[in-house]
Amino acid sequence: MKYAFAKRVRHLQSSAVRDILKVVNQGNIISFAGGLPDDGLFPAKAIEDAFSRAFSKGNKALQYGETEGYRPLREVILERMAEKDITGFTADHVLMTTGSQQAIDLFSRVLISPGDVILTEEPTYLAALQVFQSYEATIIPVKCDEDGMIMSDLLSKIKLYKPKIMYVVPTFSNPAGRVWTLERRKELIKLIHKHHVLVFEDDPYGDIQFTNEGYTPIAALDDGSHVLYTSTFSKTAVPALRTGWIVGPYQVIRMMAQAKQANDLHSNSLAHQALYELCRHFDLDGHIQSIRELYAHRKDVMVESLSAAKKSGIITFEEPKGGMFLWLEASANVNTQALLPRAIQKGMAYVPGAPFYAGEPKQNTLRLNFTHATDEEIVKGMQALLTMFQEVEEETSLIK
Ligand code: PMP
Repeated sequence: MKYAFAKRVRHLQSSAVRDILKVVNQGNIISFAGGLPDDGLFPAKAIEDAFSRAFSKGNKALQYGETEGYRPLREVILERMAEKDITGFTADHVLMTTGSQQAIDLFSRVLISPGDVILTEEPTYLAALQVFQSYEATIIPVKCDEDGMIMSDLLSKIKLYKPKIMYVVPTFSNPAGRVWTLERRKELIKLIHKHHVLVFEDDPYGDIQFTNEGYTPIAALDDGSHVLYTSTFSKTAVPALRTGWIVGPYQVIRMMAQAKQANDLHSNSLAHQALYELCRHFDLDGHIQSIRELYAHRKDVMVESLSAAKKSGIITFEEPKGGMFLWLEASANVNTQALLPRAIQKGMAYVPGAPFYAGEPKQNTLRLNFTHATDEEIVKGMQALLTMFQEVEEETSLIK
């Protein structure tokens, strides 16, 4: 049978990360590929207690719920957003989603018609690119440096393409681990107001910071009209409950809620009730502090394992100030995609950088997750990676 799939899924490809994970999960390979939190940190007992509390409310806890999500949880989220200076919203401006991934999808569903332009960072979150492609968007990457998007390039692309939407991960981005400076965030706000661009700010990692610098979300600089802010419980509590949220202008949130009705009626309301109980009866902020400490330590182990190679110029990277990823650039002659099977043979896996680019990819880049492997595994895995790069250097010099 030849299945006549819709035009819109023609360009849909399986995520490089998911495909790698499938292989990696089968063998004895140290994986730095997935964006997996450390299992050991999951507050399992507290979550069990939270579910018991939800169940103690009787059978109504098991009923269909509101599309927008369990209202008391939305109120808790507003409190937590206010701590980040995201204010001026009510529970009606909050939509609970099935992971923040669904927020990306619903946003795209209500705003992208085929051919519409969406501006993104370069590189950017691969699964967001997949969503935009599935809605047949024209994705235009904007040049970035270590301070965020380059505003002159953004302005010229706004003028050229007249986009109505943008997608950014300004705090500890996936994959680059990049943090935008406050200056750039403020400049972005000015530009989007002047040119009427709606921004989707994706912030799953903002809470996982290793310094006390503190970062102002772009949404906190807005007046509630031009920025939609998304985050998730996946990295701070557990990903299995698949609970994220989006806060922003009422008209957009309302349209997304209608799209959600068509999509799945509402998210897992039992999970919402449990998360509400968790936020009320468990020290989530204390827990986030332990996550920061462990991940900062793991990041240190990875940076230390790579530091000699960085000094000798075989690789370059910026030390992450938070989040879950280290973005590495190898010598220009290295193709990380082609080398992945060899890395797996050596017992480690990473995600090649190319799929994170909407434009011309840098083939010598790769993403390493530092939150899931143990210290010993990180040391061993980085040794394997560097040995492979060393071999490639030697092979290339032989050819020369
Ligand atoms: N946005 C970014 C930038 C991410 O890295 C992720 C997780 N990999 C998500 C969104 C989705 O997370 P979740 O659906 O688990 O909330």
